[in-house]
Amino acid sequence: MRHDVTLIPGDGIGPEVCDAARSALEATGVQFDWDVQALAAESYAAGGPALLERAIASVRERGAALKGPTSTPAVKGFRSINIALRNELGLYAGIRPSKHYPGVPAPFAGADVVVVRMNQEDLYAGIEYAHDEPDGARLRDFVRETRGVELSPETGISLKPLSGPAAARVARRAFGYARANGRRRVTAVHKATVMRHTDGVFLEACREVARDHPDVDFDDRLVDNVCHQLVSHPETCDVLLSPIMYGDILSDVAAGLVGGLGMAPGANVGDAASVFEAVHGSAPRHAGRDRVNPFAMMLSGVMLLRHLGEQPAAERLEGAIAAVVAEGSTLTYDLGGGASTSAVARAVVDRLG
Ligand code: NAD
Repeated sequence: MRHDVTLIPGDGIGPEVCDAARSALEATGVQFDWDVQALAAESYAAGGPALLERAIASVRERGAALKGPTSTPAVKGFRSINIALRNELGLYAGIRPSKHYPGVPAPFAGADVVVVRMNQEDLYAGIEYAHDEPDGARLRDFVRETRGVELSPETGISLKPLSGPAAARVARRAFGYARANGRRRVTAVHKATVMRHTDGVFLEACREVARDHPDVDFDDRLVDNVCHQLVSHPETCDVLLSPIMYGDILSDVAAGLVGGLGMAPGANVGDAASVFEAVHGSAPRHAGRDRVNPFAMMLSGVMLLRHLGEQPAAERLEGAIAAVVAEGSTLTYDLGGGASTSAVARAVVDRLG
């Protein structure tokens, strides 16, 4: 069966790692009809919303996309393409597995953690007030009137909206993932001791969903405690379920446990569409140099294959990656080797034979 999938190479190192992942995916024998969408920082800045709308329509129609990273300017410029895609396509959950493959230099052998995070609401909702805008002053007045707290006129404000139903549907995805992938436990990660009306609501929603999944263990822990456990006893962490900002940080920490961002795949999933992309960004200083690690993008491809129901091909591709890693002579700089991106891709394709 052929699969219609959108391919967004992105910018920076995106096109290089997407080329590598595409050739590895095609070498499994699974047939793809790729709809390539040129959605990248530069073209988006010049071409505006039309490019984004075309890419969104393509993913909506096909239901699945493989996506390279896209850059976002810090402080000034357009808002993140990623956040726009997640919001427009309803990709409400982010799934980020970090698994150690033997042969990868890493602080812990055998670490195997999955972060499932909310992709919407929370501090990344993008509702912000600059200190010098009139609405910012109105909000500070409102805070003084309703809470008796005087905020200095230099204070900018980012809102952290978080609702129970949004938390619950991500929690259902986390428990569903745990069941489907034979994981033992889901841990809700929060700071409900300080933020009762946001993280507290998140925790309560997770507890309710946990009651419907008695076959999967459930506990909850404070985010600072989880950070400590991750870097000291990662075996105590299994599926970590969190609001977006903690999840963003935890998944980078987890990636560090298994060899770095070059080894960390991801998926952003919703009810109607899913986008598979590495955790890493566009790493602009490495762009065009054929030297970064394509495994994170290839492992995102493994997740895509599982999503498409191509389990045997997924196992074969993951096995080929593991074999190239274990063999050790064709690894990129971040794994202690000197091989190029394209050489690693060839090694994986050769293994798939
Ligand atoms: P980054 O992940 O792009 O790079 C940080 C560092 O990690 C790099 O300098 C490099 O040393 C290393 N690295 C990343 N990917 C690697 C790989 N495949 N192989 C080897 N080493 C790798 O993070 P950043 O520098 O904070 O962000 C750069 C840009 O990417 C920003 O514009 C940011 O907004 C964007 N970004 C996009 C996405 C996405 O599209 N999903 C995700 C994160 C960041």
